[in-house]
Order: sequence, then structure tokens, then C-alpha cells
Amino acid sequence: MSTFDLTGKTALVTGSSRGLGRTFAEALCAAGAHVVLNGVNADRLAQTRDEMAAQGYAVSAAAFDVSDEAAVRGAFDRLDAQGHSPDILVNNAGIQLRRPMLELSAADWQRVMDTNLTSAFLCGREAASRMIAKGGGKIINIGSLMSDLARATVAPYTVAKGGIKMLTRSMAAEWAGSNIQANAIGPGYMMTDMTQPLQDDVKFDSWVRGRTPAGRWGRPEELQGAVVFLASAASDFVNGQILYIDGGMTAVL
Ligand code: NDP
Repeated sequence: MSTFDLTGKTALVTGSSRGLGRTFAEALCAAGAHVVLNGVNADRLAQTRDEMAAQGYAVSAAAFDVSDEAAVRGAFDRLDAQGHSPDILVNNAGIQLRRPMLELSAADWQRVMDTNLTSAFLCGREAASRMIAKGGGKIINIGSLMSDLARATVAPYTVAKGGIKMLTRSMAAEWAGSNIQANAIGPGYMMTDMTQPLQDDVKFDSWVRGRTPAGRWGRPEELQGAVVFLASAASDFVNGQILYIDGGMTAVL
């Protein structure tokens, strides 16, 4: 059996109806895991599940809002009943709001925090209680280069992603003794729906290409190796880390 083999494991990937989450789900399936897909739009989720099943992947779908405590608890209870309690959790669901702080309401702020940060705590808490009972597990939180770098007009997003870095370390601090490894991936500018308006903005596109040492946007599949590594036994002595995959952006001025 390969160190990266996930046969017999169940992974829940939040926000996997599209974008990076779907890419993570495909990688984990290809490594042998059963993947529970998630999103809020039930129709889109069902379509993704059907497309991936048609590709021969072992997938199921659980539509719920990751920022809703009762919904998260209910979803994990249903996964228990279906025999799909996760051994691997990828906290990926997120939203971005581009608005200057002077125009930001408290409700805007809270929505971004709830979806991007509190959600990882809520899903992490449910997953970890079950992983502890099972003897261990893997939690992979999706941060961003903005876990480390700020930029105007995205304050709550940046604060939430900075929080992901410290939530990851807190999870490692509390659960390492229960054989749970919690790590984060910090993607750079990747080509997904979330960044489509930025890709379409000639000025922003040229800024990304100029500021990224690699000179280009990242492709979602370039994150697949990292998620399989962090989900597998190959990373059993890696804990509390954030791995930036950003073409060098956070390393080079
Ligand atoms: P997309 O906008 O392409 O996809 C977002 C996904 O999250 C969708 O599946 C969406 O579901 C789901 N989602 C949103 N809100 C919720 C919610 N409340 N509950 C459950 N699911 C939800 O985003 P990306 O794929 O680009 O981003 C994925 C993650 O990667 C995010 O955390 C993002 O911050 C992070 N990231 C992205 C980067 C990039 O350049 N793209 C760079 C760095 C980090 P639905 O289809 O139902 O709306």
C-alpha cells in the first residue's frame, strides 16, 4: 500500500460543488477515499456528485450551510447514520467580499467571518470529536496567501484567513495527542469562479502576473498533491503548519 493511499477513508470536503473544493475532492477520490461533497446550492451539488460518480469516483453529497451551527451538527449526525463519519475533513468553503472598510457594515463583516472562519471551527469540532473516538484523523484548513499578507478592500477576508492559520495551530495544540493532524494550505491567486472578476480585470490580471514570481495565476490542480499529502499517512508528523502554494508570492518581495 502506498503512503498516499486513502482506500477505506472517508473525506468531507466543504464547498466542493465547484472550484478548489471540487479539485480537492477529485484528488482525494483518485487516492481511494470516499468523498462527501458539500455546498449550499443543492442542485449544483447534485450535478457535481453525478458528474464525479460518472467518472467512477465514490462520492455522496451533503448540502448544508457551514456557517450554521445547527445545520453543521445535523449534517455530521446524518453522516454518522450513513456510515460516512469523516476520517479527513477539508475546511474549504468560503466567500469573498471586496469592499473598502469605510463602506463595510457589521453584517458584511460577520457574514465573511462566519463563512470563512467560524465554519472551520464548527466543522472541525464535530469532526474532531468523532476522530478522537476513532483513534485519529486529518484536518486540512484552506487559508490563503492572505493568511499572511493584507490588501485593501478585503479586510474581513484577510482577517478570517489569518484566523485560519491560528485556528490550525490551535487544533494541533489541542488534538495532536489524539493522533489528529491539522494543517492548512495557503493558495495564491487561483483560477476559479471566485477570482473570475479579477481575471477579467486587465489591470488586476497584470498586477497578479507581475507580483507573482511564477508570473501567472495558479491552476486548481496544482493544489492536488498537497491535499493528498496532508490527508495521508505521509504527513503523520506534520502538524499545525500552513503550506503556501502561491508561485512564490508570500516568499518574495
Ligand atoms: P468558489 O467561489 O469557486 O467556490 C466556493 C465553494 O464554497 C462553492 O462550492 C460554494 O457552494 C461553497 N460555499 C460557499 N458558501 C458556503 C456555505 N455557507 N456553506 C457551504 N458551502 C459554501 O471558491 P474557490 O474555489 O475559489 O475557493 C475555495 C476556498 O479557497 C475558499 O476558502 C477561498 O477563500 C480559498 N482560496 C481561494 C483562492 C483563489 O484564488 N480562488 C486563493 C486562496 C484561497 P455553492 O456552489 O453552493 O455556492
